[in-house]
Amino acid sequence: MRTAQQTDRLGQDLRDYAEECIRTELDAGWSFRFDRARRRVGACEYRSQTISVSRYALPIASPEELRQTVLHEVAHAQAGREAGHGRAWVRAARRLGYTGGRTSALDMAAVYAPWVGTCPAGHVHYRYRRPTRPTSCGVCSGVFNPRRLIRWSRREPEMPRVA
Ligand SMILES: [Zn+2]
Ligand SMILES: [Zn+2]
Repeated sequence: MRTAQQTDRLGQDLRDYAEECIRTELDAGWSFRFDRARRRVGACEYRSQTISVSRYALPIASPEELRQTVLHEVAHAQAGREAGHGRAWVRAARRLGYTGGRTSALDMAAVYAPWVGTCPAGHVHYRYRRPTRPTSCGVCSGVFNPRRLIRWSRREPEMPRVA
């Protein structure tokens, strides 16, 4: 993880980038902010016309991953709520220079989820809440398989101090 100072600098740079992107690509009325989500990196909020990025992504993402997140969300704003990750969104995203997929490659859960589980084959899984019933590994088997049970343990994820 980055130091607090590096994270601050990265956050400032990202805000500059996002605000410039919003100014040139979206109608007046859209704005950028940071949020405190721990499960996803970026969001596009249509009601408030806000593009946001989690402060918790700053210590763990590369500058390019963060810029790509902004492009992903600006494409949502351009394509409209109904588009989802459909064709209109894909077209907007490509035009903006977004090179990623429909979901972020940045795995927030791998860093911040308190529950980590492993199946007998070694596949690793993450949960934000204590798993309440036996779960088997979805990578090993598409249906519940008692021989592919995930063993869960709790950890204390290192949480960066965010402003
Ligand atoms: Zn999306
Ligand atoms: Zn497995």
